[in-house]
Amino acid sequence: MLLDTHTHLYTEAFKDDIHQVIKRAKQKGINHFYLPAIDSGYTKDMYDLKKQFPEEMHLMMGLHPTSVKENYLEELIHVEKQFANHTFCAVGEIGIDLYWDKSTLETQKKAFKHQIRLAKKHNLPIVIHCRDAFNEVFEVLETEKSEDLFGIFHCFTGTYEQAQQAISYNMKLGIGGVVTFKNGTIDAFLHTIPIEHIVLETDSPYLAPVPYRGKRNESSYLSIICEKVALIYNIKPEEVAKQTTKNALQVFKNSQI
Ligand SMILES: [Zn+2]
Repeated sequence: MLLDTHTHLYTEAFKDDIHQVIKRAKQKGINHFYLPAIDSGYTKDMYDLKKQFPEEMHLMMGLHPTSVKENYLEELIHVEKQFANHTFCAVGEIGIDLYWDKSTLETQKKAFKHQIRLAKKHNLPIVIHCRDAFNEVFEVLETEKSEDLFGIFHCFTGTYEQAQQAISYNMKLGIGGVVTFKNGTIDAFLHTIPIEHIVLETDSPYLAPVPYRGKRNESSYLSIICEKVALIYNIKPEEVAKQTTKNALQVFKNSQI
């Protein structure tokens, strides 16, 4: 069994063939899908997908850093309100993205901190999005760190030192399609990180693994990522599946599987 710990199956990209996409994933042993939120524009689509696949879909709630705009306070209220009527497996995806917009750094930090506190309040993990912003994300984690703060550093692409630091904040490293890229750097040291610290994800529809790089990504390709990770650790794919599933379920404690 494999879990796709990060996939945006509710987006436009899958609206025409979602049943086929789920079917192909199931054929590869991927039966559970963890859906990170983006902003209020997608909330209904997430609930609709959960209705169609109640057993398979596990919803997160949160405001994505690239959606932190002038109305971010309203968006944060929207996020909080959802907890009144729904159960979530994590607060995510949240964090800091300085690739798309540096001008919103201060508000991104505020939204990130606010949502970390929300996760603690609900005893939930956080799922972090970090792009061109390791120092800024670590700065926030340093001020918010505690025993009840834990989660996943999604799409981890940092250095060995940054991996160690992320782990020190009770974060698992989310490993996805980038691990199959030729210019990727994480494969150089990943084998030195105990496998207890990693989880597998696709981030579909983005970041498809080789040989689908540049095309639409989908959850069935998680098996390609699993095979590459098995090569890196020099163990069987079955062992990678077993261990990373265990790791993911440690994080997503309240997802009923
Ligand atoms: Zn994502």
